[in-house]
Amino acid sequence: EKRYDYLIVGAGLFGSVFAHEMTKRNKKCLVIDKRDHLGGNVYCEQKEGMNIHKYGAHIFHTNDKKIWDYVNQFAVFNNYINSPLSLSKGKLYNLPFNMNTFYQLWGTKTPTEAKKIIDKQIQEYGVESPKNLEEQALSLVGKDIYETFIKEYTEKQWGKKATELPAFIIKRLPVRFTYDNNYFNDRYQGIPVGGYNTIIDGLLRDIETRVGVDFFESREELESLADKVVYTGKIDEFFEYKYGQLEYRSLRFEHELHDMNNYQGNAVVNYNDTSYPYTRIIEHKHFEFGKQDKTIITKEYPENWNKDKEAYYPINNDKNQTIFKKYREESKLSENYIFGGRLAEYRYYDMHQIIGSSLAKVGEISKDK
Ligand code: FAD
Repeated sequence: EKRYDYLIVGAGLFGSVFAHEMTKRNKKCLVIDKRDHLGGNVYCEQKEGMNIHKYGAHIFHTNDKKIWDYVNQFAVFNNYINSPLSLSKGKLYNLPFNMNTFYQLWGTKTPTEAKKIIDKQIQEYGVESPKNLEEQALSLVGKDIYETFIKEYTEKQWGKKATELPAFIIKRLPVRFTYDNNYFNDRYQGIPVGGYNTIIDGLLRDIETRVGVDFFESREELESLADKVVYTGKIDEFFEYKYGQLEYRSLRFEHELHDMNNYQGNAVVNYNDTSYPYTRIIEHKHFEFGKQDKTIITKEYPENWNKDKEAYYPINNDKNQTIFKKYREESKLSENYIFGGRLAEYRYYDMHQIIGSSLAKVGEISKDK
């Protein structure tokens, strides 16, 4: 007889929520992760009394009360509101694009004045059927916003000219005609007090976990332990790349400790032009209103991806989608394997969406029986 009902490969949010819910339903779970810690990409490292978002800044936000109540079982959330700044060509601007940004750009003081400029620029520079990212952005917000905030930032992010990037990368570019710097439109937002590890610890309390264990290094032995496998790693790796390799964009994070209590006065500052090689600087203490004497900042550099680097953003072009669909079809063939999470679904998901999809998967399976 097998020792576990589920072997869960990956201790990120998807795997952790799945394990938690199945344990509540009296199923026995074993969670493994190849990294030397739990939590996947939401993991925080404790340094100098601060929670350092090791895999990039994470701000929790959702409109779904059920998801909000769900995460609040495991942590108290503070009242952090994400209001990033943008530095472009020597000037600071508020984000997201709103009346403050327009005042800083053009000196406009009323919505009517700002709208007039944007509409005029869309008419002058916009095109009817945009063929690339540049044309798409120009037709959505006009020249000034595009050139100040979008062009060089996007080129740094993707390592390609805006005219060579597909239009679909930018579906919408919301502009707000109120003086509101709150980046997200969602009703609920915050950072868990004690960091994201508090949530992961709560989810995985009383569940057997093993870190530093790569599924593929002892697959047979691990599979022999459980009835079913929940796999949250890269889907192409699972199928030994038989239909080809899915591509990603990667990031490199450079952390710096500074002997001062406040480096940039805000948690997130975007660097929108190409005179800086990084796209953002994160100052972690501001996520938690920290009062420490020192501060830690992280510079975020977009990078080309290869198999030895972390896979951060899927490149959802036609080529990759075609490959992904083949893996997905094959993944449906076996009842003993369950696939979920951002890497197995080859999709960018926010945290609240991953939690939602993991809960949905548990619901689906539990009703089956
Ligand atoms: P992961 O957290 O990646 O977990 C998968 C785990 O599987 C990993 O720990 C990996 O080590 C493990 N694994 C893979 N292969 C194997 C193997 N062979 N053997 C063993 N273990 C394996 N979301 C928000 O809501 N707000 C934000 O502000 C936000 N900011 C983000 C910033 C960045 C830079 C990025 C990249 C993402 C951000 N997200 C944000 C999204 C968020 O990180 C994801 O929604 C979430 O972490 C996905 O969880 P997951 O469990 O699917 O994947």
